[in-house]
Order: sequence, then structure tokens, then C-alpha cells
Amino acid sequence: MLTHNLGYPRIGSKRQLKKACEAYWAGKIPLNDLQKAAAEVRITNWKLQKDAGLDLIPSNDFSFYDQVLDMAFTVGAIPDRYHEILTKLNKPELDLYFAMARGYQKDGLDIIAMEMTKWFDTNYHYIVPEFTREQHFKLFSTKVLDEFKEAKHLGVLTKPVLLGPVSFLLLGKEKENGFHRIDLLKQLLPVYIDILKKLEALNANWVQLDEPFLAMDLDQKEKEAFVWAYKEIKKQVPGVKTLLTTYFGALEDNLELAADLPVCGLHVDLVRHPEQLDAILSKIPGNMTLSLGLVDGRNIWKNDYQSSLQLIKKAQKKKDDDRLLIGPSCSLLHSPCDLEEETNENSLDTTIKSWLAFARQKVTEITVLKTLTLDSDSPQSNALLEENQAAISSKADSSRIHKPSVQEAVAKLSPAHSQRQSPFSKRTKLQNEHLHLPLFATTTIGSFPQTKEVRQWRSQLKRGVLTENQYNERIKEATAKAIQWQEEIGLDVLVHGEFERNDMVEYFGEQLEGFAFTQNGWVQSYGSRCVKPPIIYGDVTRPASMTMFWTQYAQSLTDRPVKGMLTGPVTILQWSFVRNDQPRKVTCQQIALAIREEVKDLEKAGIHIIQIDEPALREGLPLRQADWDHYLRWAVECFRISASAVADSTQIHTHMCYSEFNDIITHIAAMDADVITIECSRSQMELLDAFGQFNYPNEIGPGVYDIHSPRVPSIEEMITLIQKAKAVIPQNQLWVNPDCGLKTRAWEETEEALKRMVNAAKVLRKEV
Ligand code: GLN
Ligand code: ZN
Repeated sequence: MLTHNLGYPRIGSKRQLKKACEAYWAGKIPLNDLQKAAAEVRITNWKLQKDAGLDLIPSNDFSFYDQVLDMAFTVGAIPDRYHEILTKLNKPELDLYFAMARGYQKDGLDIIAMEMTKWFDTNYHYIVPEFTREQHFKLFSTKVLDEFKEAKHLGVLTKPVLLGPVSFLLLGKEKENGFHRIDLLKQLLPVYIDILKKLEALNANWVQLDEPFLAMDLDQKEKEAFVWAYKEIKKQVPGVKTLLTTYFGALEDNLELAADLPVCGLHVDLVRHPEQLDAILSKIPGNMTLSLGLVDGRNIWKNDYQSSLQLIKKAQKKKDDDRLLIGPSCSLLHSPCDLEEETNENSLDTTIKSWLAFARQKVTEITVLKTLTLDSDSPQSNALLEENQAAISSKADSSRIHKPSVQEAVAKLSPAHSQRQSPFSKRTKLQNEHLHLPLFATTTIGSFPQTKEVRQWRSQLKRGVLTENQYNERIKEATAKAIQWQEEIGLDVLVHGEFERNDMVEYFGEQLEGFAFTQNGWVQSYGSRCVKPPIIYGDVTRPASMTMFWTQYAQSLTDRPVKGMLTGPVTILQWSFVRNDQPRKVTCQQIALAIREEVKDLEKAGIHIIQIDEPALREGLPLRQADWDHYLRWAVECFRISASAVADSTQIHTHMCYSEFNDIITHIAAMDADVITIECSRSQMELLDAFGQFNYPNEIGPGVYDIHSPRVPSIEEMITLIQKAKAVIPQNQLWVNPDCGLKTRAWEETEEALKRMVNAAKVLRKEV
């Protein structure tokens, strides 16, 4: 029985790689220093896993940016537009790689970046491979071989990790018509075979091929692709031990397909789907190794050894120990690095800390599970097991987690809680009478530039350089300025600007009970960007109002309506580490009840427009279509719980970005927000079609300019977009606003863009 890991976080426990990359991009350090920093991260990771006693340690799990981009780079799937970086500029390969990820805008070139999208149902974003009809593949980068050699040189015979060929193709996108990317498998596979042969020549033993699509719905063609690819690999490179990994979902109807593939091992996620083990054990051939994914790679809770051991024992009944592997459910990329970095007890107290395991601790858990299995009677094993059980039951029984009043409130939820008093047709009349908004009403999505200054005030407050009072005075000033300026340029519905918020989830989590925060629990989101998700450990309550002070303050400065700004329950859930002792739905309902109280308070204080942001609603979609409806029903219900306690005359807005709506439009409509603002400009209003076809009855603000770039669009561009929108949605339902919040922008471009936006709306009003 061997232990292994599917991948270790590569940002470094102190975000060393992030810092080195950003310094290199800014021209502050030479390539050599970046390479050194990267090597240090790799070496530290290998050593740490070796010291923990792990049998198979991954390599090529390191990445400067993204593992999907790495694969594209490895097989030479490099779009033509980047070639000049090598041919004309003679830049190093790594510059080409970064250009693909980030675009290239210097040395007389202006090349856009490749697209980025979410990695399955995680908050990690990968770079989408681009394919053309005549796509050609070749071994372009030897990264996987180099890193294998690098580790071998240090005395670690690693298990190289590659994104499998079928999943690699499926993750990509056709950039031309007339072919399906899966048809490229014939051209692609020789490169994989070449790599595997080279790894074999270097004495690699196991090679991990990630095929997460085996846990998704597959059509016949895709299934055949799996069969063909792995038969071919077996035929041409019989000597390497191929370990096929699946994660985030269950094999379900693909079980037979997977079990019949001529691979040496199959990894399955038993954290998300422990129930699939029986079926797998009955189908998996005797000579195929089974890897049990037991330690949760997606969450931060300590492993419950007792229940993991039960699964191991079950597997042992059907499989010999030398055909079993023990590992994490998926790559530990999605876990923070090291719990030992959490040293501030005011931030994460010892009790909560005793319930947690980050990547480094998870590696140890994997090795301990093996010890407990093979050496179950030793005093040392007994002690380890007891200690673990003590931690697990201290969490299970903790009064910090279980609050009967919250559980009662959830139990008492009835359909009435998610029902506004009247249907939209009636509400809209009352709202119009109340708010007197013009046609094409203008607004923004909430945040204004979080300048260096603003962030500095917050860090000065944290360090005690500014007193609470001094900090508040500064935020007040920024808010007042923003209100005055919005009035001046003539926006119809104002916002307070969110200057007081560090992050749209953290800000609320910090004020709710049941949430804990780490100091260093960073997880890679994309490239050098990391997030520090809050930990929802207990029943959620709202001890006091969270946004009243700033909203009321802003409203006191103007006669125009100020929108109250809240983060919705689904987004708070989605962007946090969540409890594993109750369904996500229940945690979400608890958050929804807290937000509902906040909405009520705002309404009582005279705020008549309240926005509840749900940008993460779509990303929570389960991997399998069959499970979508269940998720969407409770997610929409939670939004409605938070939104429905107000009078008909109070206008509820929601906001969504990074979203397509075609396949979820009925559920979006079921949210029944009076106004929904969406990111739309980059798709040139295409995203609006779903609403048009559906005859979406409520109001919509399709974003008229892209906030991801400093570029200021012209009035004409915005007018064209609004006219496009008018062709799809009746004009009296339309709002005019940017794509998303403006916190990442500078004031200069924000001011100019919003002035033009307001003018665009004015021009269109005159045309009516
Ligand atoms: N209200 C938030 C803001 O403007 C919304 C952010 C988001 O959708 N991601 O910043
Ligand atoms: Zn947004």
C-alpha cells in the first residue's frame, strides 16, 4: 500500500512565487531570480512531502501560472499571434508563456491574452487552450522532463503529473468553425506518447494523468476518445505505470468506461462521493490499482481517520494492499499551504485551529492513514487515532458551532419566507411612483476605486497607526466625495462606494458569527492572484447590523436614492471554506437569514433600493447536469429568502458577472429581483439574448462597458451597445451601468467613463 499526493500548492507558504512573478513582470528582478525562487518552491515542496514519509511525490505540479497553460505550452498549442515574441523580439520562452497568460503590450506589440475560465466547480481559473482546424502539436516545452530530472537529482523519484489528453482537449475551445476539438486527439497523442517514452527512459515509474472529465457527462464521441487514447498509450508505452485520476465528482455512468481502460491505476474522489466505492470495487479489474482519495483537497477540515479507515478496510476486502494507494481527493492546489503559519491567536484561536488541516498537514494525514492501517495495534497508532477522535468530537460537540436558535429558524423556513408580497407587475408600479427614475436609469455596481491610499488606511488601522476614529473620518471623506461627484455627473441611483470593504465576502464574514479568518490561508485563484477564503465553521448569526452606518451616512448627504449594497448568501458560501458537517444548502439558508435581517434594517432606515450581489451563483453549478436543478432551486431560494422581507415599493437589485445565462435563465428569472445588472459588454450584449428569448419580465442593466481594462469607451460605443440591448429588451425595462464594480480601476478613467455613460443615456432618452 503506497501513499501519494496529486499535487501540492505552488504559490509558496509565504506567497513567494506570487511575489517573484510580480517583481519579474514589473521588471524589478531578472529572469534568473525568478527561476531561483521557483526552484526553491519546488524543492521545499518535494522535501516537505518526503520528510512526511509520502511514497509517491508529484512533480510537474508546479506552475508559473496555470497547469492547463503548461500543458498547452508543452504540446506547442501556441496561438499564432504570440510567435513574434520569439521570432521578432528574441525573448526567452517564459516571456512567451506569460504573454499567453497576460497579453503583451510593449516593444511595439499589442497582443491580447488567452481567455480564462473557472476550473470545474472551483474558484481557480485556468487558461483556455485555443485550437484551430489545422492545429499542429509538437513537444515544445520540456518542463515535465526537466522537473522530473531536477527532483531525481535531489534524490526524489517523483510521479510526474500531466493533464490527460482527452481532458486537455475538452478544456479548450475551437477558434474556427468546421471541426470539433476532440478530433484533434490523433494529432495530439503522439506528443503525449513521446513524453511518456522520454519519462520511461528517465526511469519514471508511475505517471499521473488527470482526466477529471471522467466525472462529467460524456457523449459517445468523448467516451471513444478515452478508449482510443489509453489503448494507444498502453500499446506504445507499455512500461510506464499510468495512474488515471478523477476528482470533484463520481464516475457514475462512466465507471465501466474507466474500469475498462488499459491503465495501471485509477484514482477516485471518496470525499465528495464515498458512496461510489462499492460500485468501483465491484467493477475494477484485479490487476488495476485503486487510489482512494480520502483526504479532502478542497476544504480545510481535519480528516476523520475513523471514517477514512472504514473505507480503506472496505477496499482491502476486495483488493490486495499492493494494489491500493492512499491520497487526497484531488490536488492540494485548492488548500492553503501550512496551518503552522497561523500564529496569531486573535485571528484563528487554538480551538478552531485544532479542527483544521492545510496542505502540509494533509500530506501527514495521508501517511498517518497508512500507518494506522498497517500498524493498527501499536501504542503509537492508538495515540494518533485517539488524538484525532478528540479533535473530531470536540468540533462535533462544540457550543461555538451549534446554536439552537439558528437551527430553529432554518427549520421554520416556509415558502412565505421566499415570497415577495406582490408579483413584479404590481411592485414595479409602486416602485416607479416612489422612485421617479427616468428611462435608461443610470447606476454603478457598487465599488469605486480602491486606491492605494484607501488600502493604506486599512493597513494603518490594523497596525494601530490610525485610530478607529481617524480611519472612519477618512472613509467618510472618501464616501462624501464620491456622493458629491455622482450627483454632479448626474447618475440617477448612487452608491456609497464600498471604501470601507476589504473584500465583498470578507467584509460580511468578519461581522457575522460562525466565521473565522486566517492570516496566511492563501489559495491560488489565477496566476499570481491569491484569495484568502473565510472559514465558515458554525451556525451563522448577525450580532449587529453590518452596512447601516455607511449606507445611512451616504444617504444623508444626498436627495437622490443611494443603493444599499450587500453580498448574497450563495456568493458568501461559494467563496468561503464551508462546513462539512451539514449540507451546503443549510449553511446557505443560515447566511440568507442573516442577510434578510440586514435588508430589513436598511429598509427601516429609509433605503429604498437594495442590491444583493450574486456573482458566484453560476460557479456553484454541480458537474453533472442532472444535479443542476436541485442546486439552482436551493440557491435561488436562498437569494429569495434574503430579498423577500421588504415592502413592494422597495426595489431589490442583484448583480452577476462571469456568467452565461442561456441554460439557467428560468432560475435567474425565478430569483425575481426587480433589477438585475449583468456583465455584458465583452460579449457585445450577446449574453442578453437569453433574457430576450425568455421574455424576461423584470428590469435589466446590461453592462455597457468593460471594467477589466483601463480603456475608456466612447459615448458612441456605449450608445451602440444600449441600442443593441433595446433590440432585445423593451426599453422601459433597461438600466444603464458598467459591467461590474470599479474597485480595480483608477479614478481618472472611472470619472471619464461614467460621465460618458451618463451622457449616452441622455442621448438615448432624447431619441424617445
Ligand atoms: N458590489 C460589488 C462591487 O462593486 C460587486 C463585485 C462583483 O460582482 N464581483 O465591487
Ligand atoms: Zn460583478
